[in-house]
Formats: sequence, structure tokens, C-alpha cells
Amino acid sequence: MRSDTSIPLDTQNNGLTIPQIGLGVFGPENSATADVVAAALEMGYRSIDTAAIYENEAGVGEGIRRSGLPREQIHVTTKLWNDGHGYDRALAAFDRSLRELKLDYVDLYLIHWPVPSQNMYVETWRALEKNLAGGRALSIGVSNFQPDHLENLLAQCSTGPVVNQVELHPEFQNERVRSFNTNHNILTQAWSPLGRGRVFGNPVLEGIAQKHSKTVAQVVIRWHIQLGNAVIPKSITPARLAENLDVFDFALDKQDMEAINGLENGERTGFDPDVFA
Ligand code: NAD
Repeated sequence: MRSDTSIPLDTQNNGLTIPQIGLGVFGPENSATADVVAAALEMGYRSIDTAAIYENEAGVGEGIRRSGLPREQIHVTTKLWNDGHGYDRALAAFDRSLRELKLDYVDLYLIHWPVPSQNMYVETWRALEKNLAGGRALSIGVSNFQPDHLENLLAQCSTGPVVNQVELHPEFQNERVRSFNTNHNILTQAWSPLGRGRVFGNPVLEGIAQKHSKTVAQVVIRWHIQLGNAVIPKSITPARLAENLDVFDFALDKQDMEAINGLENGERTGFDPDVFA
């Protein structure tokens, strides 16, 4: 993708790029999705993260059209839900998502969860490879994959994922998955990068925020960026949307990074991918 804003891009293992900060749109406010997406694009966001299960792909597409921006300047991610595993079902689910979005292609299509109990993610991945070959998904990746799921894909398929989108925030740093991704040149994209709000009120983060005259959200997003994670914080409030992008004029020092690394407590906000669904 091309970007005309100041949000830095990460280069994926297929040579294509993805903005380091995107907008997450999961939540109960789907009637507002088109407005939020259009407002975010207006203020400089160039990447939107949706999913079939969010039931707001139509609103995302509408917000994109309303922005008036050229399609190639916007990075769109959507995801295959757990009932879409299996080769034929995955192809049909992808068609449905493009129809909802009213787009000819997505920049990134992800398997949302590995669902090991179904044991079909390799077959599903082959459908994603077909979408990639057909040019309707410019890149393909996964979400919530653990190292053994990734190892199976890498051993059995010709194309590897460009991104693994996983839960990651100061209280749950997912280090084993993050280092597996890094060692295999897969970009880690953090979902719930603010721990779904858990980061707020933490005295360590508040101290670091005060030191840099920044907010806790900005400190945590900056921590992700310095670790090499892409992030997709969610907000529907214009001031917060702007705040979450404003993280490129300061840097955390070694002491700050270590203090945040020390906040790990192993507590997820979401499901365990080894057992979910
Ligand atoms: P998040 O960590 O982004 O936190 C969102 C919460 O923080 C909201 O309550 C929001 O109002 C608040 N917030 C955001 N910016 C703020 C600011 N500057 N100041 C104060 N409060 C602020 O959590 P999330 O929404 O769970 O995750 C973000 C995105 O990740 C989702 O929208 C979705 O796109 C994606 N996601 C993916 C998966 C997956 O399985 N792949 C799972 C969950 C979420």
C-alpha cells in the first residue's frame, strides 16, 4: 500500500507494507462504524481491522467510500470466523466478506482462530492461498496461532503467513508467540494493545506517562512500537483516536521499557487459542 500520512509502515515478509498503527473496530457500536472509520481516515488513519464476526464489514466499507481516499491508500484487514473453516466454506466466507465490504480486494485476510478442535486450519489456509493467487487478498495471515499451529502451516503449505495477530499488552506479553513470530519473519500485530482498558490506572504506566508528558495510552502504544509490534487500538472517540496516533515524537528509554516489561502477570483478557471453540 501507499500511505500519505506520517504513520510508519512495517514491511511484511512478502515485501508489502502495513501501517504500524491501525484502527480496531470490534465493539457494540456497529451503527457508528461508518462514521468512526470515515473520521479516523480523515485524521490520518490508513488501516482498519475488522472481521466477519464483528458484523460491521458493511460499515467499514461505507466509511472507506465516504472518506473519498483512493482505495490503494487504505489497508483493510478482515478475518474468517470459526464456522468458515474447511476449504469450500473458507472460499465462500471470503466471498461474503468482500460482498459486505463492497470491495474488490482486501489487503490482509486472516484466519481468526486456529480452532484446533476442528483441526482444519491447514485445509483452510489452502483456501486463503487460492484467494491470494486470485489477487483478491493481497496478503494472508493468521490470528491467535500458537507456535505449534504455525509450525504445522509452515511445514505443510507453500506460503507462510505475513502476520500473526495475537493478544498482547503489558499484562499479557505473549513472549513465546512473539519470539516465534520474530524468528520466522512473521509480523506480530497486537490485539487489545491497551489490555481492553486494563492499562489505565496502573501507577508504573502513569509515572512513565508523566515523565514524558504523554498519556498512558500513548506510552503503551509507544512500548508496542519499540518492541516491533504493529497495533490496532480501538476507540470511537475522536480525541482518543487522535491521541493514539500521536506517539512518534518521543521515545521510551531502557528503564521505561524494562519497567513495562515487568508488568506481565500472565492474565489474558480473551480466550486461550489452544482450547477456544
Ligand atoms: P483495546 O486494548 O484497544 O482497548 C480498547 C479500550 O480502550 C476501549 O474501551 C477504548 O475506549 C479504550 N481506549 C482506547 N484508546 C484510549 C485512550 N487514548 N484513552 C482512554 N481509553 C482509550 O481493546 P480491543 O478493542 O479489545 O482491541 C482492539 C482491536 O483488536 C479490536 O477492536 C479488534 O479490531 C481487534 N481484536 C482482535 C481479536 C482477535 O481475536 N484477532 C480479539 C479482540 C480484538
